[in-house]
Amino acid sequence: MNMMTVAPDRVHEQVQSLRAPALQAAVDAGAACADLRNAPLREEWFREESEPEADWSFRARLLGDFCREMCPVMAECRELALRQGEGRSWQDDMVRGGLTGQQLVEERAREAERLAAAVAEDQRATVEWEVYMRAALRQLKEASVVIQAGAALEKARKESNARATEAAAELRAIRRQRRARAGWGEAA
Ligand code: SF4
Repeated sequence: MNMMTVAPDRVHEQVQSLRAPALQAAVDAGAACADLRNAPLREEWFREESEPEADWSFRARLLGDFCREMCPVMAECRELALRQGEGRSWQDDMVRGGLTGQQLVEERAREAERLAAAVAEDQRATVEWEVYMRAALRQLKEASVVIQAGAALEKARKESNARATEAAAELRAIRRQRRARAGWGEAA
């Protein structure tokens, strides 16, 4: 494994200003624990039911070190975990973003005000996005109605032209017959 050190406070402020979908996209793209080469670690981010406290503490420390030393998106992962309410105060059974569940709970309490504002902002951004998408869909529907109306108009115009051509041909035929009956020549 290539060891690389991620500055702990690397972009914390920058990361905190991101909306949840951007945080999630960063984690999806860069999570060190999702890398197949780290496969043995993938199943081990939660404490097993019967795992003794001492074993879990040891493992949790290793997992936290892994996040801090190997993961380029630790700040994003931690911010998401904090906003999503990960961790339980009564039981330490997971590691995310370099912190155990209980550490996440403590961190959330320390940053309660900022996180509440960030979650509210995420919700507002989601609502705005939905409104935007609904408007865009409406616009697309309108455009499609106009296109369909245009196509129907064009079809009606062609049918009408065809009927006019047929009527003109019938008229010419009737005229020819009348002239023939009257004994006039074709050009008369
Ligand atoms: S910080 Fe840890 S838990 Fe989060 S994505 Fe990175 S390796 Fe996985």
